[in-house]
Amino acid sequence: MTLLSEPLQFSSDDTATGGVGHVTLVGAGPGDPDLLTVKAANALRNATLVLYDNLVSKAVLELVPASADRVYVGKVSGHHSLSQTGIIELMVRLAKGGRRLLRLKGGDPYVFGRGGEEAQGLVAAGIPFDVIPGISAAQGAAAASGIPLTHRDHAEALVLATGHLRGEADARTVDLDWAQLARPRQTVVIYMGVATLPVISAQLQAHGLSGDTPAAIIERATLPGQRTIVGTLATLPEIARTHDVRAPALIMIGTVVSLHAELGEPASAVIGCR
Ligand code: SAH
Repeated sequence: MTLLSEPLQFSSDDTATGGVGHVTLVGAGPGDPDLLTVKAANALRNATLVLYDNLVSKAVLELVPASADRVYVGKVSGHHSLSQTGIIELMVRLAKGGRRLLRLKGGDPYVFGRGGEEAQGLVAAGIPFDVIPGISAAQGAAAASGIPLTHRDHAEALVLATGHLRGEADARTVDLDWAQLARPRQTVVIYMGVATLPVISAQLQAHGLSGDTPAAIIERATLPGQRTIVGTLATLPEIARTHDVRAPALIMIGTVVSLHAELGEPASAVIGCR
């Protein structure tokens, strides 16, 4: 295996054929390699070149043949990483050189992974591509923590939202449709929301969602060391702080979270009040 620390330098003992190559956007699932689709696992076993980012678990990467090139294009804060444009340019350059490559992304490529932007970049450059879906973190976390995403007694709708900050410098904020997210009888799952949980909690309450609404954080869902932290919309920010919750973690808000007490893992793996 070639593990490349500098993403723009890669070995060229490749399968270049002279024609244009191909890109497959592959969903790596939430972490547990058994949660890969059969199609994704087969693609990984046949890979010659893989571009991956930091949410792809080691166990999943181990399926890639030792002879394949692996290029890390993820972001670790404070370290060199490629911009989104840089990643697209690299994929286009490699494919134009005739390489077939897998672009391996955590969860599902088309759920908050910028897979849509990457696909657009490939279309614009005339690179043939396909997409292999993956189990998104929300689905992995739901199954692993015993919190159904919908349930006839609780929620008819499921909203996936991002807690990522938007905007420039001091004006950076979580820019969501709070009134819509505060509606009853739905489950709200927030990706990338650990840092902004206090804002999310305050805004949802300000827009009418009761502070007593059950809420949970699932940290490292389906990975070793998974933690489920249960509280309410009002208490969750403080509980998360106390327990030093770190990304990757998902926030789930809605009365479905109360089902965790009935369907969830043994109490020893659970933190927080029910
Ligand atoms: N495409 C991915 C999401 C990418 S955004 C998917 O479909 O799952 C990255 C965010 O996903 C993280 O900040 C976190 O909120 C969530 N996430 C990814 N893997 C996770 C995991 N194993 N446990 C909890 N949250 C996870």
